[in-house]
Amino acid sequence: MIELKTDREIGEMRRAGRVVARALQAVREAAGPGVSLRELDRVARGVLDAAGAGSPFLNYHPSFAPTPFPAVVCASVNDAIVHGIPDDYRLAEGDLVSIDCGAVLDGWVGDAAVSFTVGAGRPEDLALIRTAEEALRAGIAAAVPGNRIGDIAHAVGSVCRAAGYGIPDGFGGHGVGRTMHEEPGVPNEGRPGRGTRLRPGMVLAIEPMLIAGGTDDYRPDADGWTLRTVDGSRAAHAEHTVAITTAGPRILTAL
Ligand code: MG
Ligand code: MG
Repeated sequence: MIELKTDREIGEMRRAGRVVARALQAVREAAGPGVSLRELDRVARGVLDAAGAGSPFLNYHPSFAPTPFPAVVCASVNDAIVHGIPDDYRLAEGDLVSIDCGAVLDGWVGDAAVSFTVGAGRPEDLALIRTAEEALRAGIAAAVPGNRIGDIAHAVGSVCRAAGYGIPDGFGGHGVGRTMHEEPGVPNEGRPGRGTRLRPGMVLAIEPMLIAGGTDDYRPDADGWTLRTVDGSRAAHAEHTVAITTAGPRILTAL
């Protein structure tokens, strides 16, 4: 079932989304050579705590995972696509980092992700990140009443494929509300005009994930959480929680 939110509820979700945006900004500012992923998780926790927000990631335990998730952010470096567990790995100049963060405030969830490089970054990594952001913008632009889920999926997938990147099979966005993962699923590739019709009050996480090497394959790490590319190429991830309104898409996880 797809729950439609009232304008007032979307306003409340915006407050949760702003906490996520602040946490991601703080993590990005803290990231640098020698800083560990665990330290980045602590930075995000500090922002959530100060806002009185909880984490929908911490102790999340889906059926595919061997253990509950132990952190408030996913930190996925270089060939890690998503779901990386923040550990004692220390960032190095040139790393490509994807941080995914959620917050729960007054019972409403926000969910967003960014990718960035440590230091100047390699040109090919910056191009990959730019394309992930462009795919996200295209997906958001398609998130208008009367369109369908397939229109968002097609917009996202077209940008990724045109640049020659891979799209990990079976992963994508989702509805967001009082829980992090709700109906409908929002694939990162699809056919326009297909799927659930978009209505005002729907709130969706749109989240392109790109594989630089151009294949769609991935494999889980020994930890059972981290997804890595099989060709060792790098990956990028960009995500916003977006409300569909009569006035157009409203990004809830912007600053
Ligand atoms: Mg996320
Ligand atoms: Mg998400």
